[in-house]
Amino acid sequence: MITKEEKQEKTQKPKQGMLDNVMRQFNNASDKIGLDPSIRKILGITNNELVVHFPVKMDNGSVEVFTGYRVQHNNALGPYKGGLRYHPTVDLDAARALAMWMTWKTSLAGLPLGGAKGGIQIDPSRYSTGELERITRRFTYALGDNIGPELDIPAPDVNTNAQTMAWILDTYMSTKSPNERSTNLHVVTGKPVGAGGSEGRDRATGYGVYLSVKFWAEHNNIDLQGRKFIVQGFGNVGYWASLFLEMEGAVLTAVQDASGSIFNPDGIVVDELSEYMAQHDHKIAGFPGADRINNDEFFALDCDICIPAALGNQITEKNAGDIKALVIAEGANGPTDVQAEKMLLDRGVAIIPDILCNSGGVIGSYFEWLQNRNGEIWQLEEVMEKLRKKLRESFTRVMKVTEDREVDMRTAAFIIAMERLEQAYRQRGIFP
Ligand code: GLU
Repeated sequence: MITKEEKQEKTQKPKQGMLDNVMRQFNNASDKIGLDPSIRKILGITNNELVVHFPVKMDNGSVEVFTGYRVQHNNALGPYKGGLRYHPTVDLDAARALAMWMTWKTSLAGLPLGGAKGGIQIDPSRYSTGELERITRRFTYALGDNIGPELDIPAPDVNTNAQTMAWILDTYMSTKSPNERSTNLHVVTGKPVGAGGSEGRDRATGYGVYLSVKFWAEHNNIDLQGRKFIVQGFGNVGYWASLFLEMEGAVLTAVQDASGSIFNPDGIVVDELSEYMAQHDHKIAGFPGADRINNDEFFALDCDICIPAALGNQITEKNAGDIKALVIAEGANGPTDVQAEKMLLDRGVAIIPDILCNSGGVIGSYFEWLQNRNGEIWQLEEVMEKLRKKLRESFTRVMKVTEDREVDMRTAAFIIAMERLEQAYRQRGIFP
């Protein structure tokens, strides 16, 4: 565990990056609502931070030591909740920033959940499936009772999926007494449907991104038919958001991932690209249905909707000025930095903020958690209907605050999230 002094020093002097970004967003909204200074102190720092180093035997018999993180930002509204990401950029500051965003996201969505995030600092493409399974299981063992179905509930994030969650569940259960095993299904969400997962959780985030765009378009009297969209990151979020937008008549014209950028002004067929990727190491490079373009041309492409659905800090002052889209729908967490946001808003580009735009994922997780907890199984249409209703409510509330307080959508979303947390603290008081 990090000492309190180290924690405070780091959190009070955020370095450039996602933590800096989320702290600026937090401070901006706190100033706007005149957040109680005591509550500002509490929410401006994380509750608990766990760093684990654990050894794993590789396929060739050697041993590697990995570093994993779990940061629990706040649980005033309910158990800590948030994903686990496997990526070389995962470190303590990244986990802190992402955990904070989870707290605002669950609060905005009106869920009885708090915020957490974690992961392992690895490039998973360098490991075999067997190695990834052992890494995941040993990480789960190292997290021990710091996670739990009523304490802290992980979920998929960048480079983790339903399989990863199934390994976590199995490892967690295997270390419990027989009596507790069957009642712990909700220790993780985003599980395969056959192993306690929920129908619809796989598409929940992308569906939410699509709905946010649709609600935004309706609000502005824009028809999505024939509108062009570009997507950065074609993982779970990028794929499902694109598929739903395509069904609505919008046209995917460009995609960027770690392997490069592709462009076809006449449209890229979503399922053709996804089938190609399934056979080509999950990469877009070489897709025959589009031309390759330089990475730095991507954000400057002519389009109506831009969906960053990869990592944080992708839209910065370097490329914000080139963006032609009318709206940026943040499928990723923290894709637009504060300077870029200012430039975009000044030019009249709308930004549907991450904590609203990608909140379909954690809402879907909440539905899975509820089903496990109550011994229920909901049908796909029921899950999607509930998701639509929740997202519609969040969207409407955010738009109302943008109008009432004359603020942008992110500030409005933060205001709603923080006022709910402020009320919880006011009513509960501070122990002892
Ligand atoms: N990783 C997703 C997010 O950033 C989902 C988290 C969850 O379902 O707990 O919102």
